[in-house]
Amino acid sequence: MNTALNESTVHARIKAPASPPRLPLTATDKAEMKQRIKRLLVEQNAVLVAHYYVDGDLQALAEETGGHVADSLEMARFGNDSDATTLVVCGVRFMGETAKILNPEKRVLMPDLAATCSLDEGCPADAFSAFCDAHPDRTVVVYANTSARVKARSDWVVTSSIALPIVKHLHAKGDKLLWAPDKHLGHYVQRMTGVDMLLWDGACVVHEEFKGFALNQVRRLHPDAAILVHPESPEEVVQQADVVGSTTQLIKAVTDLPNQKFIVATDQGIFWKMHQLAPHKTLIPAPTAGEGATCESCAQCPWMAMNALQNLEQVLLRGDREIHIEESIRQRALLPIQRMLNFARGHGIGARRNSD
Ligand code: SF4
Repeated sequence: MNTALNESTVHARIKAPASPPRLPLTATDKAEMKQRIKRLLVEQNAVLVAHYYVDGDLQALAEETGGHVADSLEMARFGNDSDATTLVVCGVRFMGETAKILNPEKRVLMPDLAATCSLDEGCPADAFSAFCDAHPDRTVVVYANTSARVKARSDWVVTSSIALPIVKHLHAKGDKLLWAPDKHLGHYVQRMTGVDMLLWDGACVVHEEFKGFALNQVRRLHPDAAILVHPESPEEVVQQADVVGSTTQLIKAVTDLPNQKFIVATDQGIFWKMHQLAPHKTLIPAPTAGEGATCESCAQCPWMAMNALQNLEQVLLRGDREIHIEESIRQRALLPIQRMLNFARGHGIGARRNSD
């Protein structure tokens, strides 16, 4: 058995935050607020970079203003290529940190700096570093959903869109891996590659809610639907998938496959882009914790939900909520990120303009 879960450290079940209270906007309020935000972006030479999981209004605004909507790999690449002097990252904290690591000369703002991620929170840098110290013979591969300090302790950073090719490459070199923090993605990568991996015991509170038994029942109701699953989901869900992939890969499946119906096991924010690209197709959310059960997230990331038009306007007006990273950490974290981006470039993976 090549896998050993890290029992010595944290697996705390991370508690998802409650949705932030926010007054609803009327259609007129919303339109006026969008106009003000557009003016502020121009005045400040700022660009919006949004993840597929944030609110559709933010994704639309990013596209209308010359920004970008993407997965975390492409968000990093866009920020790096953009001429804007301010990047406003609508997503979660590690995405803002990655933008800053790659663009130290740019100002990186986020609507809410408290928007983190259960994977990031469940992998504290000191405990992770001790775990690495205990296994010095292993190449350290960390998922992008980690803090700058954890990245700084790694050899490679990967996103879900590039994890498999990078791990295959390392496996071919004969490397044994230490993987963090998502155990479900780690198990999936291990099953696909056969590599020797030691896994950190972390999970995404959103994807962990998807249930294999309930998914099987929904499949029976829609036998013509293709099942799309993000690999942060549990194994019994992944095993039922027609397509397992990153957000970009799942969106591509909706446009490319002939099916008219899809059952989708990932955050429901992705439906905005799927509807935009394939408006005539039917999207069915995969079942989460089940009727009557407690559902921590119900397929909506509570941290992604902290991004809204209101706090986007505020951060542009006040200029606060800026990402800062200690320079020595930034320089060390840059190496494994750059390694991933160079690998992507060298293997023609995820050319940015094709990723929508
Ligand atoms: S959906 Fe999961 S992995 Fe993505 S930011 Fe939210 S908690 Fe983190």
